[in-house]
Order: sequence, then structure tokens, then C-alpha cells
Amino acid sequence: MMSDERVLFVDHTGQIGGAELILLDVVQGRKRSSAFLFEQGPLSQALADKELGLIISKWGQGLSQFRRDSSWLTAIPLVGRLAAIIVEIARAARAHDIVYANSQKAFVLAALAGLLVKRPLIWHLHDIITPEHFGAVQRWVQITLANARATKVIVPSQAAAEAFIEAGGRRNLVEIVPNGLALPLEPRSAREIRAALDLPAGPLVGVFSRLAPWKGQHVLLEALATLPGVGCIIVGDALFGEQAYAAELKQLVLERGLADRVRFLGHRSDVPKLMKAVDVMVHPSIDPEPFGRTLVEAMLAGVPVIATNAGAAPDILEGGRAGALVPPNDHQALASAIASVLARPQALASQLEYASHRAHAQYGVAQMLDAIGGVIRRLQAGAAA
Ligand code: UDP
Repeated sequence: MMSDERVLFVDHTGQIGGAELILLDVVQGRKRSSAFLFEQGPLSQALADKELGLIISKWGQGLSQFRRDSSWLTAIPLVGRLAAIIVEIARAARAHDIVYANSQKAFVLAALAGLLVKRPLIWHLHDIITPEHFGAVQRWVQITLANARATKVIVPSQAAAEAFIEAGGRRNLVEIVPNGLALPLEPRSAREIRAALDLPAGPLVGVFSRLAPWKGQHVLLEALATLPGVGCIIVGDALFGEQAYAAELKQLVLERGLADRVRFLGHRSDVPKLMKAVDVMVHPSIDPEPFGRTLVEAMLAGVPVIATNAGAAPDILEGGRAGALVPPNDHQALASAIASVLARPQALASQLEYASHRAHAQYGVAQMLDAIGGVIRRLQAGAAA
């Protein structure tokens, strides 16, 4: 499908996290649009493959490694660079009808660029604005700019919408569009995939998120220490300046004597295949998730899900009907949930069937693209009127 609107998509990172996988779906067929990235990386290559105009900032390289919890004092030398990026975005916006910020850093700078060149501004807010994730100053800046300059704020879940409003965001800005996924079909069985990838044959759990303290991979390792004989694949890498955590995880594996049971596979582009190879997909985030694509990926792959009961997870798993929910940061509860799934209780088959049906019905990519396309079209029509 061809879309006519000239949209400037703005993202701060050149890495491909969950938000960027969604962006790659949203830009599909938008040949009159462009992407403005703060830095080069795998994302710039993937966007270029979509035949989108691509603008890379001269000043943004490395800013995505600037962590959310970094002190604002360390930001001071960056101010000049940020100002230069704001001017670059404003200049790029001139040739477009709508600006679409795909991350919170992109939104903040795009909102300020709107003071120079005014365009309708969509913030696709992939984060959940809670005190666990953002400091008070960051929340204030985000919400003040959103209320003053955003035309629409797209969020992926009721939990993310509530957090935005709770933080002071205007309710009428919010549009809930659940993330939608389309996965490549994987015809092989778990046993065949394991053989092809040289994965162990016994009970196997997997976690499929970038490595970051709040994603909670350490809680899974603590749980595994109490589950003899259970293997684990840890898929994902430190994408946004979390290398110290990655090293801590490897150290924890050694300290708990898990080296022969836990495999770190790094960042992979074949997650759906790997997911189908495990007996259970664990999503151990200790802070609320704005969405959690991996939950839906597992539901689509027919793999049992265990997720922490926070943020959007209880919604996606329908309060436990489509997967098990455990309290965040509780490795004992996680271990017993894993043990009970590995025991393959009778109820599991009907849960998996229900989860797969729910994922197809609620979280399809076509629904997401229709809803986002509708927001863009309405803003375009409003701007032209
Ligand atoms: N993912 C991936 N390769 C990896 C680890 C994760 O492609 O090595 C994908 C994963 O399948 C999911 C996305 O990255 O689609 C992560 O999205 P999610 O919403 O779970 O978390 P986020 O990174 O957005 O916080």
C-alpha cells in the first residue's frame, strides 16, 4: 500500500530495539517519507532498505548510549550538540507535513524543533512514564512538552496510557494502539530447531530481551540456580549502554555454577525460530513494561509464557488466562512457575490455544498499521484544512 503523506520519522538510536522494529513496520510503503536518525547503525541500514529518505544527524552519534538514569549534570557539555540536532530536525521538517517522534529523546528534540518549524507532531511513546523508569525532571520535561507541543501521543497499552495521564499528560492527546506483529512461519519442530542450532535436548527456558537491569535477566538466573537440570538461553545484548549489566550477568552465571546450563546467544535476528525451540518463554522485567512484544511473539509461536505481573503484561495475558503471571523480582515465585510449566499440566494445551487465538485476534500488524495510518491521515487532513 502506498501512503501519500510526507512524514518525517525521528529516532534517537541507530540500534534496533522493540520500538525500532515497530518503526520498521510503520514506514512500510511510505516512499514520500523520510527518517531522521541521530546516528548510523543497523537501523539506518534497515530503513534504507525500505527506500525511505534517510537523514543522519552530524551531531548525534553515541547519544543513545546516554542512559535514562544518567545524571543531568553530565548532560551539560551535550547541550550544544542537542541544540544543533534541534536545528537539523527543524530544517528536515520543512520538507515534510508531519513529524513523528519514535522515542522519548527524539520527541523532546522534535518538540523543541517545532518552535522553529511548526508541524503536527506525533509522539509514538513506546515507554511507560513511571518513576521506576524516569526521574522527576525527565518526567516533567516530557509531559510539559507533550502537553504544549504534541498533536497526538500514541501508546501501546492501557498501562502506558494511564502512566502518561497520571504523570500529568492530557488525556485527549492519547491514542492507544496496541503493538502488532507478523512473524515468519517456522515449520520446523522444537526438536529440529534445537538440533540445527546445537541447543541442548532437556528442559529449556528462554529470555528474549535486550540486556538491561530492569529487564530482570538476573532474576531468571537466580531462579535457575534452584532448578537443577533446567537449561536456559539468554537472547539479546546490551543495546543502550548497559554493558556493565551484561558483564554482571555473566559473573552471576559463574557464581551460581550455571555455566553448563546457561547460554548467552547475543543479539539475534531469528527470535521467532529460537522462541519455538524453548519449553517456556520467560519475561522477568522488574519494572512495568509499556507493552512487551516478546509476550505476543511467544503466544504466536505456541510457547508457554511466564511474565511478571506489572505494566501491560496482565492485559496481554488477560490476567493469567493466556500465560502465567508472577510477582516482579521474586525468583522463588518464578522458579515454581517454571517448574509447573515444565511439568506440562493438562491445562497448558488449552491455554496455548487460547493465547495463540488472542495474539492473532488482538495483536496483528495490519490492525496496528491501520490505526497509525488513521492517526496520520487525520492530522494531515487537519493541517490542510
Ligand atoms: N529481539 C531481537 N533480538 C534479540 C532480542 C530481542 O530481535 O536478540 C526483539 C524481540 O523479539 C522483540 C523486541 O526485540 O520483538 C523487544 O521488544 P520488547 O517490546 O519485548 O522490549 P523493548 O526492547 O522494546 O523494551
